[in-house]
Amino acid sequence: MKNSPPFDIKDFTRSELAVICKEQKAPAFHAGQIFEWIYKKGVTDFREMSNIPKTLASYLEDKYYFSLLKTLKREKSKDLTEKFLFGLSDGSAIETVLIPEERRRTLCVSSQAGCKFACSFCASGADGFIRNLSTSEIVNQFLSVNGLLEEKVTNVVFMGVGEPLDNFENVLKAVDILRDEKGINLGKRKVVVSTCGIVPAIRRLTELHLGIRLSVSLHSADDGKRLRLMSVNKLYNTASLIRALKEYVSKEGFPVTFEYVLIKGFNTNPDDARKLSMFVRGVPYKLNLIPYNANPFFEWQTPSKREIQEFTGILREKKVFYTLRRRRGDDISAACGMLRFRAV
Ligand code: SAH
Repeated sequence: MKNSPPFDIKDFTRSELAVICKEQKAPAFHAGQIFEWIYKKGVTDFREMSNIPKTLASYLEDKYYFSLLKTLKREKSKDLTEKFLFGLSDGSAIETVLIPEERRRTLCVSSQAGCKFACSFCASGADGFIRNLSTSEIVNQFLSVNGLLEEKVTNVVFMGVGEPLDNFENVLKAVDILRDEKGINLGKRKVVVSTCGIVPAIRRLTELHLGIRLSVSLHSADDGKRLRLMSVNKLYNTASLIRALKEYVSKEGFPVTFEYVLIKGFNTNPDDARKLSMFVRGVPYKLNLIPYNANPFFEWQTPSKREIQEFTGILREKKVFYTLRRRRGDDISAACGMLRFRAV
């Protein structure tokens, strides 16, 4: 009996496939054709790739397999947000969320099973860290959901479970495949990577200059308060974070997005608003304010309308522009910070 092939074809970017083609003494352009078969035509058999030389196809068939995620569960919220539970090959499961809006459909993908960073308000880290997702496990979240839709996914945000910049190589390869014109071909700016603020990884991204849109979970511009929310602030404080972001933005030439979760009685007083306005000074930014989604894991609460109005009033006075995000998918536990890794 034939052994099953050792490698997952969707773990490889087009340039990596080009190297494989050359090693097999075939022209590098076949990598683009293979990509089109996989990502545009949905073909899962190398023998169907009619413009690929037979010898190359049979080599690939021996070495590479096509992975699939098992859809274990699909739930739809009243507001049309959908949550998917996908089974992985090791028996664990991850969550992915589809957020349909008027003109776009955003897919929120997970980058790790669990999370190391254990932010004190986020359910995604509550069960600890299991492992990084592979490139194909990230790409397959997109392919699985997109395949079910008539109106296709337009945007991908790495805001599901995990810290994308802590799974640097696999996430960057997935971003490459998602944006590759021969691959999934999402626009360059349609993929957003969110981070809790890992400064050395932001610096690496600056060096690589890939034009990746970054979103940073800030939640407080005060080091003491941010540390209570996010232990990562012990390693990389707000001063080092903003320095790295200024360099990133000046290299890339587009703004960074800050996420600021509004937590009742904690990071919403006038002093917090003033510190936030000082923090964003001098860096082109977008600011999203998200009322905290209360959940059974933590004591933190959602602020009242009035508390939010007072906070945003000061921001407006200080000429800080922001978008107040509305909560989506909370009836199916698909809202920000409610996603979890499941051992099934
Ligand atoms: N680790 C990355 C990617 C996760 S994104 C990061 O930190 O950016 C998930 C977003 O949801 C983060 O901005 C996180 O801070 C936010 N979040 C977590 N719990 C939340 C909650 N209960 N209510 C609202 N947002 C929450």
